[in-house]
Amino acid sequence: MEFFDLKKQYELIEPSIQNRINAVLRHQKFIMGPEIAELEEHLSSFVGCNFCVSCSSGTDALLMGLMAFGIGPGDAVFTTPFTFFATAEVISFVGATPIFVDIEEDTFNIDPNKLEEAICDMQKGIQPVPGISKRLNPKAVIAVDLFGLPSKYEQINRIGRQYDLVILEDAAQSFGGTLGGKRVGSLTDMAATSFFPAKPLGCYGDGGAIFTDDEALAEQLRSLREHGKGIYKYDNIRIGINGRLDTIQAAVLLGKLEVFASELARRQEIAGFYSETLADFVKVPRIPEGFRSAWAQYSVLTDKREYFIERLKEAGIPFAVYYPKPLHLQTALSHLGYRKGDFPVSESVSERIFSLPMHPYLEREEQIKIVNAIK
Ligand SMILES: *Cc1c(COP(=O)(O)O)cnc(C)c1O
Repeated sequence: MEFFDLKKQYELIEPSIQNRINAVLRHQKFIMGPEIAELEEHLSSFVGCNFCVSCSSGTDALLMGLMAFGIGPGDAVFTTPFTFFATAEVISFVGATPIFVDIEEDTFNIDPNKLEEAICDMQKGIQPVPGISKRLNPKAVIAVDLFGLPSKYEQINRIGRQYDLVILEDAAQSFGGTLGGKRVGSLTDMAATSFFPAKPLGCYGDGGAIFTDDEALAEQLRSLREHGKGIYKYDNIRIGINGRLDTIQAAVLLGKLEVFASELARRQEIAGFYSETLADFVKVPRIPEGFRSAWAQYSVLTDKREYFIERLKEAGIPFAVYYPKPLHLQTALSHLGYRKGDFPVSESVSERIFSLPMHPYLEREEQIKIVNAIK
């Protein structure tokens, strides 16, 4: 049994993937070939937003998002400490300061009430980051859709408007999820997703994309991903990066899009089975009304994690712990001066959480074996 299984998917779509990759090998336009525009069109219409700018990874998608918003030294970006490191890494990378806000235990996502409190505290002059004494300008929020579930954007967008902050959605895990019938990618000012192989929509290497309805932002993002180009390649009007998606990866994604909708439905079905059968043994994910997760991961809470992990190991069932260490306790961010106890929900969740195998090709037989091991 695999924690996620890309081989079964490949068996299903092999001819289509090979044809598309072969087409790239024949036309040889490895950088910004025609598959890039084709993919961006597909993705923006799937999401229901005006512009998609593909790029080299989810991390670079977040980075270019912050750059396009003009965020840099002296700026504060509110985010969650319970996420993959890249979310806060890019904030520090552009010279801005991450301000952590604790999560809700039910959704694992940033708590909008605590977000508003943190912003108000800052306006009152309360120093939000223990290790930073200079005054920071609150500029943005990066909300993360952890494990595939969109954050509470109705509240978060309202907060953004009220306090004049831009909202960047870290949708690395949630591509395909929805909120109020609208797809992830169309919920905020800008969204960044990842096509890392293990994400709900993955390519065969690194890849990512940024979504926005704002034409000027999209134009800047296209410039940023090619060394800040202006009207042509050797006209450089800003500092950018080499942030392009490879044509071959775009070809792979076009092949994978053919089965993506049915894969999302399968993930939903498997999550439903887990939740029905496991609710008496562990705390299963609660999906709020109107939300739909892309089910990148199926994660549960328990006070007896070690015990359950031993049972899974005995049964030969793979598992994972996302994430064992919240970001405010990471060595690389120790200069921020946060301490254990600062974000009790994130800390407690990191000690009680584990994730079960989740991929669209997990057979019912395997699901029953997993459920029985937990029971
Ligand atoms: C995977 C991930 C990223 C980074 O994506 P890459 O494509 O690996 O750079 C960022 N944020 C979150 C929440 C992720 O899960």
